[in-house]
Amino acid sequence: MLRGACAEFLGTASAFYKVPKCDVRVLASRPLRVREHSTTELFGDYHPDSMLIRVWMRTAVRKEVTSFGTFLSTLCHEFCHHLDYQKFEFHDSWHTRGFYERAAALYHYAWGTPLKKLFWVPVAGGRWRIDWQRTNRSG
Ligand SMILES: [Zn+2]
Repeated sequence: MLRGACAEFLGTASAFYKVPKCDVRVLASRPLRVREHSTTELFGDYHPDSMLIRVWMRTAVRKEVTSFGTFLSTLCHEFCHHLDYQKFEFHDSWHTRGFYERAAALYHYAWGTPLKKLFWVPVAGGRWRIDWQRTNRSG
């Protein structure tokens, strides 16, 4: 059921961005072994060679169940890695500000909520993270 909904969403998004369709697998919990050369988040990963997104409902250690919002956000996030490799033909997929902007746009589009302006805070190593407190306040 859930896999069907995810596949449909990814199919629509792939068609919109004119990229090959990626496959998706929904797992009950995080796999113990995570492959090399894949990008991995708390609730999902993406493998560029097989174009496969995996999302899971529970973390490995604390067995916390993810919320639907987090689940959808993970799905959008992993799809943006797919976009990086397939559309922009990057050889790697980094968590740049542009990356988060694309993931957020897709998330709000999927969720049907108005797109918010993202606020950023610099973190160590010249990287940036989203300031969710400020971002959510500015609705
Ligand atoms: Zn990522």
